[in-house]
Amino acid sequence: MIRNVADELLARLPVVNRDGPLTQDLVLEPARFGLGHVPAKQVPDATTTMVCGFCSTGCGLNIHLQDGRAVNLTPSTEYPVNLGMACPKGWEALTVLKSTDRATVPLVRDEKRRLVPTDWHTAMTVFARRFREIQERHGPESVAYISTGQIATEEMALLGAVAKFGMGMLHGDGNTRQCMATSVVAYKQAFGFDAPPYTYADFEQSDVIFLIGSNLCIAHPILWQRIGRNPHDPRIIVVDPRVTETAMAATSHLALRPKSDLVLLYGLAHLLIREGWIDGSYVDAHTTGFDEFREHVASYTPERVAEATGIDEATLLETAATIHAGRRVSFWWTMGVNQSYEGVRTAQAIINLALMTGNIGRPGTGANSITGQCNAMGSRIFSNTTNLLGGRDFTVAEHRAEVAGILEIDPARIPDRPSWAYDQIIEGILAGKIRGLWVIATNPAHSWINQNMLDDILGRLDFLVVQDMYHTTETARRADLVLPAAAWGEKEGTFINSERRVGVLKRVAQAPGQALADYSIFRLAAEYYGCGEMFRRWKDPAAAFEFLKRLSRGKPCDISGIRDYRMLDERGGVQWPYPDREAAGSTTQPDREAAGSTTQPDREAAGSVAPPERAEQGTAESRPAHDDPHEEQERRLFADGRFYTPDGRAKFIFADPTPMPEPPTAEYPLLLLTGRGTAAQWHTQTRTAKSAVLRKLYPAENYVEINPFDARVGRIKPHQFVIVESQRGKLKARALVTPTVRRGQVFIPMHYEDTNRLTLAHFDPYSRQPSYKNCAVRIRPVESWD
Ligand code: SF4
Repeated sequence: MIRNVADELLARLPVVNRDGPLTQDLVLEPARFGLGHVPAKQVPDATTTMVCGFCSTGCGLNIHLQDGRAVNLTPSTEYPVNLGMACPKGWEALTVLKSTDRATVPLVRDEKRRLVPTDWHTAMTVFARRFREIQERHGPESVAYISTGQIATEEMALLGAVAKFGMGMLHGDGNTRQCMATSVVAYKQAFGFDAPPYTYADFEQSDVIFLIGSNLCIAHPILWQRIGRNPHDPRIIVVDPRVTETAMAATSHLALRPKSDLVLLYGLAHLLIREGWIDGSYVDAHTTGFDEFREHVASYTPERVAEATGIDEATLLETAATIHAGRRVSFWWTMGVNQSYEGVRTAQAIINLALMTGNIGRPGTGANSITGQCNAMGSRIFSNTTNLLGGRDFTVAEHRAEVAGILEIDPARIPDRPSWAYDQIIEGILAGKIRGLWVIATNPAHSWINQNMLDDILGRLDFLVVQDMYHTTETARRADLVLPAAAWGEKEGTFINSERRVGVLKRVAQAPGQALADYSIFRLAAEYYGCGEMFRRWKDPAAAFEFLKRLSRGKPCDISGIRDYRMLDERGGVQWPYPDREAAGSTTQPDREAAGSTTQPDREAAGSVAPPERAEQGTAESRPAHDDPHEEQERRLFADGRFYTPDGRAKFIFADPTPMPEPPTAEYPLLLLTGRGTAAQWHTQTRTAKSAVLRKLYPAENYVEINPFDARVGRIKPHQFVIVESQRGKLKARALVTPTVRRGQVFIPMHYEDTNRLTLAHFDPYSRQPSYKNCAVRIRPVESWD
């Protein structure tokens, strides 16, 4: 009997693991390069540094090499961003390259509607022929592209140039529309240029840190670690409807009603004005529109704000007092603000608080939007989608002439209209105006809002091309042509992180099969489209980088002083602006004439005598041994109080809140919030799901967080499966009964394929960014899945 049981157990247990490492492989041996001891098989013969390819934090990773190929990595201790730290995604960055579902050959749909392997010549012939046919039949504007914040800046710029100047497209946008468009518009309107003003050292230099719509702990874990290094015992105010991981660690948590953030911010402005807690000299010298703003917020009394937000009057006053008491107050926001139907005005309400209290341009201050993707900032400046290359305007003839001159192309090749935004391209497909779509390194079939509708819309295309590192994404599975792309680590170029730091990428791994760098695919597209000659000088990413330098010269985002990739490597990245000092006359200030500015504010004449604590320009932490500010590793904008607007002043911009488009009703009584699940998940999990280590760090199946009260009302038990349903679709998820969400609200992570079946397609009117974080749903236990 005992023997039978033992046999049975032996049969079930993996006593012999034929695929695991041999014990001898696990023996640690001394490694050089300051790496301590590593497994014998991974002892490197060299190391190199490059930036991580997941999020916008832009950590430096030390890649361990054997014969020029990556065998392991560790966070770089020297890189000024992460100082030796990395989150789980960064640690697993090499693992996801080895997934068995990498796209290794081009795939084309045959007459039986199967995707079958083909060669590059056939693939690119089909690419050019089909897109040309569509353009000939329906006009050049009938083919569009959707790009990404995940490829190198050089690749984005080449794609934008090939698609618009070479192939004659008008419409192209990026998935950065889904995360950063709100901040772009907010900054442009308020500061005159899309210019996040901060440097990460500000996290360590603030004495008050105001985080709104940001679960920094898990969305940007290394930035949270930077707060942890702050020696000033900062007050941390978190504004979020949920008790997030960040809220749990805050000094105070303002658990406001969803989408009442604009009212809250105006209410705080009201209190700061009422109590005389504003920096009048800063406002007078460096801003416009304050008097109108003061009038606007006069009606946002504590009573009204408490009623709208659910935050009591005493807490409102205490929060305003904390902001007033801080000598260095920094305001930070992410997707809780950006992904809103009134995100731009909310972001500007944050900017207004920073301006009116003089908390900008000094260490530890700022109105600071943290980006999402590793190269969202590169996309914002150089993707040639809604902005002409280098932050220019397609509608301005001078700007088109400048770009044409730099690229040595006919100015008539440059469209004189900006592109449609992402949602307008999708609507264009529905209206039959867009017939061909080229999707690069993004996965709209998963990530776009109101997924079922998108599914129908993509099905209406005459020709869908997907260029991706995996052939299994939800969008690639729908494609007529799949172009296999090399990934981060398999190609070269640069990324620009949240704090405007240009960091370098390197080729440390071989792309699988016939996969090519996106850069090479764009060059092939130009050749097969018959416009290759126009891009002859873009021979490699380094050549493209020279174009980027020239395109940026004299702009706020000037990077003309960056010598080459090697310089980026040696210096731990370089923040823009970094102009060529010889050309710019040894100044780090951008050319305001070129940025559209006509006058310079005269600080003396304007009576801008900053109080001593307001006048500080740097600290020991931010200032390296040498005194040349051009050489500092941490640089912030607006230290001189001069902005990129024509009059050099920042603008107070405001508007009344608008009603929530789909509030809960009797039929759909709960409000759905979506957001990041864990630090181990990245967006649509296209990559993170390929790592066994990361998969262990998050639930395999979708889940919905629900308050115990609502669970009781709905007879929902912890961990049971439930159906969550909106007017647009439904999904099955496990119930996580938790008081971290308030009554009347539920939360579902954005990473699971079905989450966007529920979301409502509504957008901020200025930025056209989708509002993912509010729609009405109902929930019931699963009885039978239909
Ligand atoms: Fe990479 Fe972002 Fe993690 Fe840093 S925080 S290791 S950049 S994913």
